[in-house]
Amino acid sequence: MAPEPVLSLHDLRRRSFSGTPLAVLGHPIAHSLSPRMHNAALARLAEGDFRFHSWAYHRFDIPPPDLAEALQLLAERGFRGLNLTVPHKVIAFDQVAGVDAAARPVGAVNTLRRREGEAAWDGYNTDGYGLSAGLREGLGAGLAGRPVILLGAGGAARGAAVECLARGCSSLHIGNRTPENLAALLLLLRPLAGSIPLGGFDPGHPPADLPGGAWVINATSAGLRPGDPAPVDLRSLPVPAGVYDMIYHPPETPLARQARELGVPVANGLGMLVHQGAKALEIWTGAPAEQTAPWMAAALS
Ligand code: NDP
Repeated sequence: MAPEPVLSLHDLRRRSFSGTPLAVLGHPIAHSLSPRMHNAALARLAEGDFRFHSWAYHRFDIPPPDLAEALQLLAERGFRGLNLTVPHKVIAFDQVAGVDAAARPVGAVNTLRRREGEAAWDGYNTDGYGLSAGLREGLGAGLAGRPVILLGAGGAARGAAVECLARGCSSLHIGNRTPENLAALLLLLRPLAGSIPLGGFDPGHPPADLPGGAWVINATSAGLRPGDPAPVDLRSLPVPAGVYDMIYHPPETPLARQARELGVPVANGLGMLVHQGAKALEIWTGAPAEQTAPWMAAALS
């Protein structure tokens, strides 16, 4: 299958789109795996339901200042659903007509669905679902009742932390390089934690009282680029139950490599990517995420 062309705001202004179009918006976007996995799932859905023959998933490179105009035009052009990736997830939160209750505490949306008969969008966030399902698939158990040591305090960490608390983790300890960013995240999470113990730490000097048997979740971008350090030295933590690294490219970061070398179960973020995508497709089509996720995973293998 030929890769989908990278479209621009200029294309959106001058052309129409037949059938039922979907798209991902990002800046940059050329690297995105979403068109490949969504179009593969749509092709499989079309085998059982002819209506899906006319569905297609596109990609647009949209710089942040153009997002509002792009969202308006995409709604007017009849797009049914959108995925948003870096840097749009937070910016779009204030540009949509409604936000799903589960996405509100995250403050970011990665999936939009157009309101029936209106040029207006409702926002959802499927990243938390993706993390939870990816972790269960990759490490064999979920978040409920587990201690979690989360690394990072950016957008992905915020979504992960909200998901851990919503799923009933037994405690949440967050380590981040910059103390101010950590403090801001903890302040935001405090009202959501209820009776779940919540704390922060310096990943360079982890305290001795962190829990053993925890899921260590990497939600930092440390490991994306060659030469990046690991966000924590796993030997400075009590032995974890497993490491979930949200990064999937490269497939193994320095943190994941250390986990493997120490014999700690480890999984990368490809499963999260697939499951957040399958949940988005469910929001647009009604097809259960459990049905389409294996098709999406196969398209990426
Ligand atoms: P942000 O830019 O919002 O946050 C980056 C975080 O990484 C901050 O906490 C930052 O710490 C930390 N960080 C960056 N560089 C280093 C370093 N060298 N050492 C230690 N900490 C570092 O990014 P996002 O939250 O949006 O994304 C984080 C990661 O999650 C990315 O790698 C992204 O690819 C991945 N991701 C994966 C998804 C999936 O489907 N698998 C979905 C979404 C994200 P500080 O506060 O000190 O700057």
